Amino acid sequence: MATSLLENKVAIITGAGSGIGRAIANHFADAGARLVLSDVDDNGGEITLAQARQRGAHAMYLHADSSQPRDHAMLVREAVERWGGLDIAVNNAGIAGTQAPVAELPPEAWDKVIAVNLTGVFHAMRAQIPALLVRGGGSIINISSILGQVGFRNAAAYVAAKHGLVGLTQTAALEYGPKKIRINAVAPGFIKTPMVEKNLDAAALGMLAGLHAVGRIGDPAEVAAFVTWLASDQASFVTGAYLPVDGGYLAQ
Ligand code: NAP
Repeated sequence: MATSLLENKVAIITGAGSGIGRAIANHFADAGARLVLSDVDDNGGEITLAQARQRGAHAMYLHADSSQPRDHAMLVREAVERWGGLDIAVNNAGIAGTQAPVAELPPEAWDKVIAVNLTGVFHAMRAQIPALLVRGGGSIINISSILGQVGFRNAAAYVAAKHGLVGLTQTAALEYGPKKIRINAVAPGFIKTPMVEKNLDAAALGMLAGLHAVGRIGDPAEVAAFVTWLASDQASFVTGAYLPVDGGYLAQ
């Protein structure tokens, strides 16, 4: 289904080799975007690249570690050199990290999650914003979580990073709103991806399903459809927002 929602827009998607990032890549491909896909999982990244090309998109895949400032600089450079500029960035790469209560969480496990899920998005935006300014505006979407608003046992670093991402997003939106860069945080509920399936057994997934008003966990495509709209000019008055796509998880 080809629409022109993102026709000829150039978009970076991090963590594009799996789950939500792959679904966003496919939806962006259908919407006509040119894609700079990145991940640390090169096998997954190449699969997403093949899927995007099969859908008719101009796309490239690059290995990039989202915790590294130079890797974000490289992605932006490639977007500019190959496609002429940058219009959209989806900072999606993230890790679940070690599951443990606060007093038992090793400091290095804390540091790793903060480095990828929070500091990595700071590095990403530092690299992306100058290119968006050259273009006269654009859209940055940072993938937070329902756990950017409420706590969750045994996930202190993840929860802290996703909360921090909301403040980072709001502040950057205030700073760059006048320059026509919209910056938003999307907050998925529990979504059926390898991140969740790797860490939770069937019983835990069943319990989590019941915490959503709709009585199930979500599909990556349900996040991707929303992100595609948010990236587009249809969302021209939406910025600085924390936007749950959560099947009603946060309603209670
Ligand atoms: P996923 O299936 O594990 O996909 C994440 C991808 O990011 C993987 O390919 C992963 O590679 C990659 N990645 C990990 N560390 C990276 C790094 N340093 N640099 C670049 N790429 C890296 O997870 P997902 O569920 O799609 O999650 C995507 C985003 O949505 C994350 O930010 C997550 O926190 C957020 N989110 C997910 C859910 C959910 O329920 N699934 C809910 C709310 C928010 P490896 O597999 O090699 O680690």
